[in-house]
Amino acid sequence: MDAYDLLIDGYRAFRKRYLGDAAEDWRHWAGKPQAPRIMVIGCSDSRVNPAILTHAGLGDLFVVNNIANIVPAFAEGRHTHRSVGAALQYAVTVLKVEHVIVMGHSSCGGVRALMSGIGDIDEATQDDYVAGWIRELEPARAAVLADMPDVPFEEQCQVCELEGVLVSIGNLLTYPFVRAAFDEGRLSLHAWYFMIESGDMLSYDYEKGEYCRLIRPLG
Ligand SMILES: [Zn+2]
Repeated sequence: MDAYDLLIDGYRAFRKRYLGDAAEDWRHWAGKPQAPRIMVIGCSDSRVNPAILTHAGLGDLFVVNNIANIVPAFAEGRHTHRSVGAALQYAVTVLKVEHVIVMGHSSCGGVRALMSGIGDIDEATQDDYVAGWIRELEPARAAVLADMPDVPFEEQCQVCELEGVLVSIGNLLTYPFVRAAFDEGRLSLHAWYFMIESGDMLSYDYEKGEYCRLIRPLG
C-alpha cells in the first residue's frame, strides 16, 4: 500500500479510537487548554517517536523534534536557532512542565554526520542547514576525538550520541528560565537514550555518572 494511503488509514484508526464510543480522552482535552507535565526533546528520526515509545496519550507530552535532539546553548542577543528556545520558554514559563527529557538514540544519522566532519566550517558548508545545525554538538565530538581517537568509527558515533544528550542537558541550564525553575526544584532534567536494535531505554544517573537501564528488562 502507498505510504500516504497507509497514513490515511492510520488517521481513520485514530478517529475510531479517540472519537468513537470510548472518546473520553478526546472529550477531556477538547475545549481545555493543554496542560502537559512533561516536555520531550527528541530526534526527528522516524523510529523514535516519544509518544509511541512511552505509550503516552493526548495531552501528555509537549514535544520538540529536531535532527540529533539538540538544545543549542542560550546566546544572549544573538539567537540563531529560535525554534527550540521558543518551545522551551513556553513549556517552562507558561505550561510549567515538571520534567524535560532530552532523548537521544542509537544509529543517529545526525550524529554520524557530525562525526564524519560535516560540521567543519569551510566554504562548502556555509549555507548547509544540516552542517550549521549539527555543529551545535561539536563539544561532544571534540570530547570523543580527544578521549578515544583510535576506537572504531561506529563506537565513536555511539559515544558521541550518548555525550550529545549530556551536552544538550548542559545547554538547557544556560537558559535563565530553565536555570531558575531547576534551582527552585520545580523542574527535573533527564537524559534518555533509546537503543533501537534492542528496544532498551537508558537514563543517565548523575550520582553514578553513567547511563543505566530505565527499567529492568522483562524475563
Ligand atoms: Zn537521530
